[in-house]
Amino acid sequence: MENGKINVDTIEKGSCYGCTSCAVVCKSNAIIIETNEDGFLVPKIDFWFQK
Ligand code: SF4
Repeated sequence: MENGKINVDTIEKGSCYGCTSCAVVCKSNAIIIETNEDGFLVPKIDFWFQK
C-alpha cells in the first residue's frame, strides 16, 4: 500500500466480493471489472488512470 492509501488494486484476494459497486460509483470511470484466473469478478484501476 503506497502512501497509506487503499484502492481496488491493493485489496487482498478474498476481501473483494466482486459486487462491482466501486466501478459503478466511481465518477471518473477509473475502475474496470475483469475476471480473474479463478473466474471471479475483480476490480482494477483502468490502465489510462495509472501513473
Ligand atoms: S467489487 Fe469493489 S466495492 Fe465490491 S467488494 Fe470488491 S472492491 Fe469492494
